[in-house]
Amino acid sequence: MPDVVLYWLRSDLRLHDNEALAWAAAHGAAVLPVTCFDPRQFGRTALGFPATGPFRARFLIESVADLRSSLEELGSGLAVRTGLPEQVLPVLAAECGAHLVVAQQEPAPADAAIEEAVRAELDADGRELRLFWGSTVVHRDDRSAVGVDDFRVRPPLSVPRAFPPLPNVPLGRMPALGDFGLHAPELDRRAALEPRGGEAAGFQRLVAWMWTSNALGAYADPPTPERPTPEPSRLSPWLAHGCLSPRFVHAQVLEYERRRVRNAGTRAFVAALLARDACRWAALDGRLPALESPAASPAERRRLDAWRTGRTGLPFADAALRELRLTGLLGHDARRDVAHQLVHDLALDWRLGAAWFASQLLDHDACISTAHWMAAAGLPDGPLAPEPRLDPLAAGRHLDPTGATIRRWLPRLAPLPDATIHDPRPSQTPSGEWVERTM
Ligand SMILES: Cc1cc2nc3c(=O)[nH]c(=O)nc-3n(C[C@H](O)[C@H](O)[C@H](O)COP(=O)(O)OP(=O)(O)OC[C@H]3O[C@@H](n4cnc5c(N)ncnc54)[C@H](O)[C@@H]3O)c2cc1C
Repeated sequence: MPDVVLYWLRSDLRLHDNEALAWAAAHGAAVLPVTCFDPRQFGRTALGFPATGPFRARFLIESVADLRSSLEELGSGLAVRTGLPEQVLPVLAAECGAHLVVAQQEPAPADAAIEEAVRAELDADGRELRLFWGSTVVHRDDRSAVGVDDFRVRPPLSVPRAFPPLPNVPLGRMPALGDFGLHAPELDRRAALEPRGGEAAGFQRLVAWMWTSNALGAYADPPTPERPTPEPSRLSPWLAHGCLSPRFVHAQVLEYERRRVRNAGTRAFVAALLARDACRWAALDGRLPALESPAASPAERRRLDAWRTGRTGLPFADAALRELRLTGLLGHDARRDVAHQLVHDLALDWRLGAAWFASQLLDHDACISTAHWMAAAGLPDGPLAPEPRLDPLAAGRHLDPTGATIRRWLPRLAPLPDATIHDPRPSQTPSGEWVERTM
């Protein structure tokens, strides 16, 4: 049995259904859970955006704080460090005499590269990095069995009842947003939801949406003019940070099907969870490129800035991009709409839009985002089928038939009648140049 085990947490910020954590709890004589706030995640990108915007940074800090107090309740704790994991972990392992570091494997190319850097540093010191799986419904080792209606899902693991003691090292203080040069974002009363980070808040949202509102059974209901899309779960921020295990969410769907109803809605929701899995398989199989921001000429930069600040003149897309900037969230169809607008109408490299999404989204997930941006760009070598070009104006009219979304996020357009509210504003010059405008 290993004496001291270091358990390195990244996007698995939970106690429930956590293979690496369960293994460490069962095998370590002493276990030090540790998470690193990696400066690469918090600096500025080459385009000048924060790599992690304030909504996601706050969510992450809340999630880590929630996990720290849950581990304390189990008689353990959580070490928190700011620094590069490949530098921090070998030092910490030496400090507490750990020969083994365990972690959940992350398939996105940038995360996998950091894993390799950590492994190399540990190897050089005669220490080991052991990776476990935990970010999909279907286990990595079972995926050959996946069929449309026939796939094996392992039962979720329960929370360990007790946890081995901590080795004697300082745990460190939690960082604040200001440490990353960020300010606390203000609550926008128009936000559909203001998600709080952490496992407890994730459970609450799951219960509220699935069981209390009974929305799962209506997930595939046909659209109506008042409700063009069914109420989505908005679970993605908790899934992206691993506060909720996808396998646990899937088990809840099966429970709902047993106790309430099994219908097109419940099956469509399972399909959404499996679509998430598929993006991870693509990364695992090396079918996703690492995301790098390309250079932008001054004219491209102007178009990008008009797009990301919601000033392109296309009301629905502008409303959607303002919602993203002011809340950190956006519905799926609106994401597609603005992605197609950036790639096709504004003729920009998809990676510029993906970089903005990566900065702003509360639920940023490099595997899912890259797969969808490549599909929107029509790239034939991406993991999803290339999408035919979408007309963002027509799509906006379809998604927001009464103009309610436009009125919510662009209040100056509110007095316009439904018939013209979607009409493009004159922001594009006759030569096709997009100019910034203020609304
Ligand atoms: C350009 C673009 C970028 C995107 N970037 C991200 C991202 O960074 N992170 C992210 O989680 N999702 C991303 N998505 C997929 C999707 O838009 C979000 O998962 C969804 O809007 C989250 O809302 P929800 O939790 O209410 O989803 P629900 O509809 O309630 O679905 C439940 C869960 O299933 C998964 N899911 C749903 N739809 C998809 C899908 N099409 N592909 C993969 N997984 C899915 C998500 O984990 C989601 O939380 C992107 C889509 C597009 C078009």
